[in-house]
Amino acid sequence: MSQPPTSPSPKQLPLVMSEPRGRAKPPRHLADLTLDERTALAAELGLPAYRGKQLSTHYFSRLVDDPAAMTDLPAVQRDELVAALLPPLMTPLRTLEADKGTTRKTLWKLFDGALVESVLMRYPDRVTICVSSQAGCGMACPFCATGQGGLQRNMSTAEIVEQVVAGARSLARDEVPGGPGRVSNVVFMGMGEPLANYKAVIGAVRRLTEPAPGGLGMSARGVTVSTVGLVPRINQLTDEGIPVTLALSLHAPDDELRNELVPINTRYSVAETVDAAWNYARVTKRRVSIEYAMMRGINDQAWRADLLADVLLARGDWGWVHVNLIPLNPTPGSKWTASDPADEREFVRRLEARGIPTTVRDTRGREIDGACGQLAATEV
Ligand code: SAH
Repeated sequence: MSQPPTSPSPKQLPLVMSEPRGRAKPPRHLADLTLDERTALAAELGLPAYRGKQLSTHYFSRLVDDPAAMTDLPAVQRDELVAALLPPLMTPLRTLEADKGTTRKTLWKLFDGALVESVLMRYPDRVTICVSSQAGCGMACPFCATGQGGLQRNMSTAEIVEQVVAGARSLARDEVPGGPGRVSNVVFMGMGEPLANYKAVIGAVRRLTEPAPGGLGMSARGVTVSTVGLVPRINQLTDEGIPVTLALSLHAPDDELRNELVPINTRYSVAETVDAAWNYARVTKRRVSIEYAMMRGINDQAWRADLLADVLLARGDWGWVHVNLIPLNPTPGSKWTASDPADEREFVRRLEARGIPTTVRDTRGREIDGACGQLAATEV
């Protein structure tokens, strides 16, 4: 009798293959809906419409997650409302802390087993949460940990928002050193390409910025959407009229190198991509951030700093752009390492000499694999 073909044990397979691909949609949650839609839904359930608003206040203003604490709702209606509008979306599997507890990375398990991560960073003057917008990522940038596993699925608006609400809860409950606090900034720099999940991401931005109890009531200026440069989507975002900060992950000023580092560049060239970012700044009056991960001997040469300045200044020198250099966080198996500090300083010097504001990103959370490009959810 012939043996059945042997297959590796599920443990050895990458997560994306060992989990069934979730075809089912994430459960509907009030954060997926506008305030009007929530009250309409309450009415459809045969409940007073204002119950939709009360439930929203619990979620977005009081940051309540235990239905038993919603004492202004009659018990029977509460159960029905919670079942219809506040289904559990994600479970924290692990939280890792660094910087004396002021940097916290959480690994979340979504309803279908997909894993994503978010990172909360508390600074003296602000709290930033870095959120994921997709489980995995399809953009395949070779230096990025998330890019290596491919795309599992898009996240829903509520799954994106819940990462921020969970962080807001832990701050409000004084679980993060520094006293009770609020979230001031949200950056879409976790797992995934936000503009490849456009509708859900815009929904999330709207929920974050709508005044309570429609949403969290944050300032749009505190929200940063970071993209590899999906040009038609950047143009769509430009027309949206929400003044979020746009960050463009450029990483190289020339097509030859960018084709390798950010493969979508073979579809949208450096010139087209930078034009779209420039137009975003022109229309929204928001300064665009150019992200540039410094890789030793790859993209950190002085001549590339000059070329980067040429590319940016060719679109005008009216302060439409600043450059954010990110020391590369080496990912396992990657052939690239961070730049020599002297080369980094020279790169900064050349950009600044041309009048381009340049900052070097701090690398918070490095030791808990919570820094830029290190988010690659694995259950260990
Ligand atoms: N897909 C979006 C958001 C993802 S990550 C985008 O590409 O912009 C946010 C930033 O971290 C991007 O600029 C990304 O290129 C950068 N990044 C990815 N891997 C990195 C690494 N290993 N070291 C430093 N930065 C990295």
